[in-house]
Amino acid sequence: VKVEDKLYQNRYKVDEGRPHVCIAPHTVPEEVLLTLVKVCPAGCYQRADDGTVEVIPDGCMECGTCRVLTEGTGLLDWNYPRGGYGIQFKFG
Ligand code: SF4
Repeated sequence: VKVEDKLYQNRYKVDEGRPHVCIAPHTVPEEVLLTLVKVCPAGCYQRADDGTVEVIPDGCMECGTCRVLTEGTGLLDWNYPRGGYGIQFKFG
């Protein structure tokens, strides 16, 4: 079984209007923004036409990579989703 096939079995319950990851106006180096786009395994970070980076955390796997990458910069406001929301992993 391919990793992509296993990931496809996960389900997400989106907490409408209450994103658990928010991005602040950018004050971090450009490399950090580009790295965010590259490292997120769920593709939640996208480069906008104006050069900024946006986050759409609906498919977030709560891996914490972006949180670790930007720790101490104030770029992200990252919290786990409320109970019952977010990713629901399928095991087995
Ligand atoms: Fe992407 Fe992981 Fe950050 Fe979620 S926690 S937005 S999956 S890097």
